[in-house]
Amino acid sequence: MKAILQDLSYAEMQDLAVSLGEKPFRARQLFEGLTQGKTISGISSISKALKEKLLETYEDCAISVQEKFLSADGTEKYLFRLADGNLIEGVLMKYKYGYTQCVSTQVGCRMGCTFCASTLNGLIRNLTAGEILSQILLVNALHKDDAVGQGKESRAVTNVVLMGSGEPLDNYDNVVKFLRNVTAKEGLGISARNISLSTCGIVPKMYELAKENIPLNLTVSLHATCDEDRKRTMPVAKAYKIEDILKACQHYFDVTGRRYYFEYTLIDGENCDEQHADALIKLLKGKPCHVNLIRLNEVKERHLKALGEKQAYRFLGRLEKGGLSATLRRQIGVDIGGACGQLRASYLKEQ
Ligand code: SAH
Repeated sequence: MKAILQDLSYAEMQDLAVSLGEKPFRARQLFEGLTQGKTISGISSISKALKEKLLETYEDCAISVQEKFLSADGTEKYLFRLADGNLIEGVLMKYKYGYTQCVSTQVGCRMGCTFCASTLNGLIRNLTAGEILSQILLVNALHKDDAVGQGKESRAVTNVVLMGSGEPLDNYDNVVKFLRNVTAKEGLGISARNISLSTCGIVPKMYELAKENIPLNLTVSLHATCDEDRKRTMPVAKAYKIEDILKACQHYFDVTGRRYYFEYTLIDGENCDEQHADALIKLLKGKPCHVNLIRLNEVKERHLKALGEKQAYRFLGRLEKGGLSATLRRQIGVDIGGACGQLRASYLKEQ
């Protein structure tokens, strides 16, 4: 595979233009074209000679739509094809305030969580910064008419969650580069406050992230109230204790002033009895955090069961009564391919 031009920051693109014997303003035309979701060959404001030079080193098309599924509730699920033929998934959720896009950070995943489909075939490779960004550029281009804002700044996607396949902190450098590029004012300029990064809790990387000065919403997948339970569903728990995850979250809060989030997937018979609710309250009460409950999306290869909706609301009620800030995530798009990684997994099987 050739390199991905969307990896470059604006400053790097200026250097590239100059190194190719072009005037610096060409970099702006190139950068704007890519930010609009165009391929290199599709940017009309640059010369054929420059395109040819670029195409010697860079992929023309970083990412394309392999398949798109539309849910009755408006949610869109994408199967994207990368330049090397690998497939990744993405979801676009439509809210009143704007569109939230869920992006992938790796092809597959090596974290091995027992409830998750992304990890079924292990990690294939990391995505580059530009491949993560290109998921958003492409989806924006497909929704030009839904853009909010004015002029050049008008875009459909206002919020981004790093909750597609992959563990973002297992692809740290590319993810941080992506975060810098997606928030840069010369590019999409999405506010870090509108970005959520979800991690299974790689503690040392959480400390590193706190140093980057990117005020995003840090979300940790907890899914258990003690290490012994957590080890059953999340192998990463063998490396990092809940206690140390909580310390890293507190440090993130101290450094950034941003409250943090926990994801807690309700798995019937595993983590959602009254005792679990009480243990969760004990663990998190008084901390500057919010708990997002998710009802398990059942993955057929995994044999785990979702908690019923009524019981899920009862669990939520107990947390709230115990003084936690919590919500049960509304399930959207369930009719179009369910949970994380299921679409790619079923597609791979068919092939
Ligand atoms: N690797 C990151 C991002 C993963 S996906 C992380 O672990 O946080 C985002 C969220 O979806 C995580 O909380 C993950 O645990 C959860 N998830 C994965 N598979 C799921 C499933 N089948 N049902 C419900 N939630 C799931």
